[in-house]
Amino acid sequence: MAPLPLHDETLLFEPAAANDDALAVVFAFPNQYTVGITSLGYQVVWATLARRADISVSRLFTDGSEPLPPTIDVLGFSLSWELDYANLLTQLETLDIPIFASDRTEAHPLLFGGGPVLTANPEPFADFFDVILLGDGETLLDDFFDALVELKSASRTQTLRRLAAVPGVYVPSLYSVTYEGPTGGVRAIAPVTSEIPATVQKQTYRGNVLSASTVVTPHAAWENIFMVEVVRSCPEMCRFCLASYLTLPFRTASLEDSLLPAIEQGLAVTNRLGLLGASVTQHPEFETLLDYLNQPQFDDVRLSIASVRTNTVTPKLAETLTRHDTRSITIAIESGSERVRQIVNKKLETDDIERAAVNAKAGGLSAMKLYGMAGVPGETMADLEQTVALMLRLKKAAPGLRLTFGCSTFVPKAHTPFQWYGVNKEAEKRLGVA
Ligand code: SF4
Repeated sequence: MAPLPLHDETLLFEPAAANDDALAVVFAFPNQYTVGITSLGYQVVWATLARRADISVSRLFTDGSEPLPPTIDVLGFSLSWELDYANLLTQLETLDIPIFASDRTEAHPLLFGGGPVLTANPEPFADFFDVILLGDGETLLDDFFDALVELKSASRTQTLRRLAAVPGVYVPSLYSVTYEGPTGGVRAIAPVTSEIPATVQKQTYRGNVLSASTVVTPHAAWENIFMVEVVRSCPEMCRFCLASYLTLPFRTASLEDSLLPAIEQGLAVTNRLGLLGASVTQHPEFETLLDYLNQPQFDDVRLSIASVRTNTVTPKLAETLTRHDTRSITIAIESGSERVRQIVNKKLETDDIERAAVNAKAGGLSAMKLYGMAGVPGETMADLEQTVALMLRLKKAAPGLRLTFGCSTFVPKAHTPFQWYGVNKEAEKRLGVA
């Protein structure tokens, strides 16, 4: 396994020196270093472990790792995308660890996983994990690792039983799952004994200090980016949207206690800043944040914003992005058809979209990318034609603004109102129209 380019990393936290009897943990990401190190969730969990003297943590990616311990006590994975699951199985094989939890013995590490994909729907992958962490890591991680450290010399069976009592920890082997049929849904999930909790409560962090980068590196997918989480979840609740439903309630980082101190720390080591969250511009003090970033000392800061709700594209936002070296803005409109937007609960008028394009151009941006979907429940071919008509209307309203439309097929997500709709078989064909 290739070594990681650690000499290029600037750490924004103080790692602890591990004790001699520290728990040997490998924390993995099932993709390349450049992808994994750009995941804010991965960075934060890794730093949480690295700050503890009772844990010795090494990082593992598909193309490199830190030196791995001769015996691994615990192996963890952070999962952000379903498509990474295949890589996870390959990584287990590379480490000579059985891929099925039921084939592991005392000689193997305990395998845990966490992240949005597993929290949303752990069951399809439950056979591979000894433990799945459900929900926000802020409280869950320390509770989980405190228990693991305490159980270091316990048997695998004892450890799993004890871990099952930690709120938010799902131990699949301690639950029996029955299905409606070979292709049907889950009928029931029941603990195998009465000492195991009947339900596992997803953990929800309710503080107003959200996450920020713990490492900056030129090898990140967005070179040298420092990321801060501005909001978590989204209050709009579009009926297909996992980013909203999975992480409700909508939480915002405190400007004074979270965002500004984090940004100051990050901009001391880099001039590239990413504002993250499902609906960043809906932070109640977003205007104040823009004013802060528009101070002359931040003139050389390159600013990226993860997601912008269409009706919050003001001339001021566009000017701020232009001033900070961003030429393009991305908005998700889902469809050019008002009818489809109503079906998905996207509270957005066609006039709002036009205004966003006009404001983007007026603020000096040169491009606007729009995202949409084909195959939404209730959609007809006429709706797709309205998307084409909308693009033509925008071209006229904001001449010179480079417009692109990215379109994917609707994929139902667990926990959303559209979770049982299935994938429209026509969707691929309709993509051609869109
Ligand atoms: S506005 Fe965007 S982030 Fe918010 S619920 Fe709708 S699609 Fe999700």
